[in-house]
Amino acid sequence: MADMGIVVDDSSSVALPEQWSPTSVNTYLKCSLAYWWQYAQGWRTAPTSALLAGSLVHGVLETLLALEPPERTRERAREIYAVEAASLLKTVDPRVDLDDLRGRAGTALTSYFAIEDPREVDVVPEGLERSVFAEFGGVRIGGSVDRLEFAVGGARVLDYKTGGAKPRYAEAYWRQLMLYARILDDMGVDVSEVALMYLGDPARLMVRPTPAGALTRVELEVIAVAQERAACHDSESWTARTGRLCSYCPFRVACPAWSDREVPVPGSAESTAILERSRELIRRTPSVPAGADASDAGAGADAS
Ligand code: SF4
Repeated sequence: MADMGIVVDDSSSVALPEQWSPTSVNTYLKCSLAYWWQYAQGWRTAPTSALLAGSLVHGVLETLLALEPPERTRERAREIYAVEAASLLKTVDPRVDLDDLRGRAGTALTSYFAIEDPREVDVVPEGLERSVFAEFGGVRIGGSVDRLEFAVGGARVLDYKTGGAKPRYAEAYWRQLMLYARILDDMGVDVSEVALMYLGDPARLMVRPTPAGALTRVELEVIAVAQERAACHDSESWTARTGRLCSYCPFRVACPAWSDREVPVPGSAESTAILERSRELIRRTPSVPAGADASDAGAGADAS
């Protein structure tokens, strides 16, 4: 468990996003070298049944909760699922296990109805997939909130996780939610609670308050992360943070911090060839305009 500075070859890198998102902050904090591979080199996780099931379920719940409360029934959910699944399956990558995808989505939707009655959910106007944005100390950050609903003393930011509760990701999930709360606070929305709804088996709803100290802490973290990234970029040396999450990292095959043997410099043609052989990764063409952060579903992301 040690940090290690890794010199990279930036000759094929694209411009780093000017705007951060809670996801990219988490990616950076987990490992800045993995962040560099993802955001500067354009690698992302190949579509998996877990990731696609997550997108499908998010879409179904967004459409369901956009209906008038009495219309949010299981039957309507089934109809919406049928339409959205048919649309998704038309374009799905042939490597994806469709039975697994359907099984995961089915489990998540069953869990959803076990945990709440959507007819009773009090969504804030325009509170579904709401785009949010703020600037902290000159650092731009934005994203999209799954659900914003009325709660005691203010609003509640809720995020769906379509797998079971995974302790290894809990810290990042809560940071993401506190960041959304801080951004909304900046936009004039008083967020009193944040919540994680795990749609696995069993389903779980976990709620936390949003004390001022926690909101200040995540704001300062964003500023520190942006400063550190600038220093890494200038020095072309990124920090590999080895730890238990390395076991789930798709860049491990080419990571100098993880191998006893000498491995090629990240970003070199030899290193890139190693990643190209991985079935876990695909490379995005460098078409992300400077300033955007379009990598939220990127490499290393857990199923959400
Ligand atoms: S294997 Fe570990 S140290 Fe290497 S890039 Fe991945 S998370 Fe970072």
